[in-house]
Amino acid sequence: MKFISSTDPKLIYTFSQALLKGLADDGGLIVVDQLPKLEINQFSETQGYTYFSRQLLHEFMSGDPLDADLPLRCKNAFNYKFPLLKLSQNTFMLELFHGPTLSFKDFGARFLAQSFDAMALKNKITIFVATSGDTGSAVASAFHKLSNINVVILYPAGKVSNRQAHQITCWKDNVFSLAVDGNFDDCQRLMKAAFQDEWFQNNLHLSTSNSINLGRLLPQVCYYAFCSLSYFRHRHTKPGFVIPTGNLGNATAAYWAKAMGFPIREIVLATNANSVIPDYLNTGNFQARASIPTLANAMDVGNPSNLQRLQFLFPKFETFKENVRAMSVSDDIIKRTIVDVHRHQDIIMCPHTATAYHVRQQLSNEPWIIVATAHPAKFNNVIEPLLDIKLKVPVQLARLLAKKTHVEGLEPNLDALKAWAQNHISS
Ligand SMILES: *Cc1c(COP(=O)(O)O)cnc(C)c1O
Repeated sequence: MKFISSTDPKLIYTFSQALLKGLADDGGLIVVDQLPKLEINQFSETQGYTYFSRQLLHEFMSGDPLDADLPLRCKNAFNYKFPLLKLSQNTFMLELFHGPTLSFKDFGARFLAQSFDAMALKNKITIFVATSGDTGSAVASAFHKLSNINVVILYPAGKVSNRQAHQITCWKDNVFSLAVDGNFDDCQRLMKAAFQDEWFQNNLHLSTSNSINLGRLLPQVCYYAFCSLSYFRHRHTKPGFVIPTGNLGNATAAYWAKAMGFPIREIVLATNANSVIPDYLNTGNFQARASIPTLANAMDVGNPSNLQRLQFLFPKFETFKENVRAMSVSDDIIKRTIVDVHRHQDIIMCPHTATAYHVRQQLSNEPWIIVATAHPAKFNNVIEPLLDIKLKVPVQLARLLAKKTHVEGLEPNLDALKAWAQNHISS
């Protein structure tokens, strides 16, 4: 398997390089030149997830030094459950939020941290993360206290929930958080600008653990592969997935699993009011936009960076359109869905999961799996007033909420970030 830049196939990387670099040298995303069609009968979901994920990740990593350590790293990274609940005859929910920071982002962040740890880095590297809410805490938790790694988290000040903010800022040691005066796109732009900047390149060994990092994407491929395979083996039909989508990382992972031959019938994306993907499908013309704040804030993205990866997979717009379906869901409908599902099914969903639930209601009678991306307790500010209840706080969250927070504000420009880095980070 060859790892190349999505915008220049002559730029080729090993697996370890792809993880360390995050982005290709020309600013493109690192992709697999051709995803292999796998013989899925060789995969067994009965021997547990650690075994399954290392079997699948080995396909990508074979020949790389990281491959040797893979069993241990998968065991350390994926040490919690992700149950599939049956909601009704043809509707299921895949709960990906039982990790240490209560969103699906824990899968990717923990695997990436384990991989960096396995590399036993000789130089101190600095990882920049732009987060719309949940990546920051997942990465902080996964990388906290790893040696030779600094983590700098950029999050949009005032645009994440209080509990998300607490989970991002309750670290110290090698983890720094910066509250950027701007939105998620500003954070992402700042991070990309740092990568292209000579001072940063010369003074820090930079990497990123954003969802553009291949080491985040691949562990997400694993749970779609595992879930679809076990669904198929038990029920003899292929499920579709409905995926709450912002930066298109989680969705791209599902498309990769499907392209490699895992039994996924169809994939439908649910966005919030940031409807750039549904609009692209309607017009054939992609227009990035400034993101607007919604209740499903981790999906407030106006320029999804993984779009390049999906376009690499489906280069012609016609093929793209045949494979990608997407619907946008307003805040009003998110609220109504949370209330209705609580009343009729006694299930409490986070606002992101509610977008997918609503989209599923618009779809066929075939089997669909709604991907539940975060635990509702992270969004008590939205849910408690809506349902007039007090949410239980899971132990993982309670532990973090008891910690003191540390954060600095940052103007959304590269000079400000440089000045901060000069004072706080050494390589
Ligand atoms: C990050 C996130 C999403 C969006 O995932 P992408 O990979 O950015 O599309 C959806 N829901 C929650 C809870 C998230 O944290």
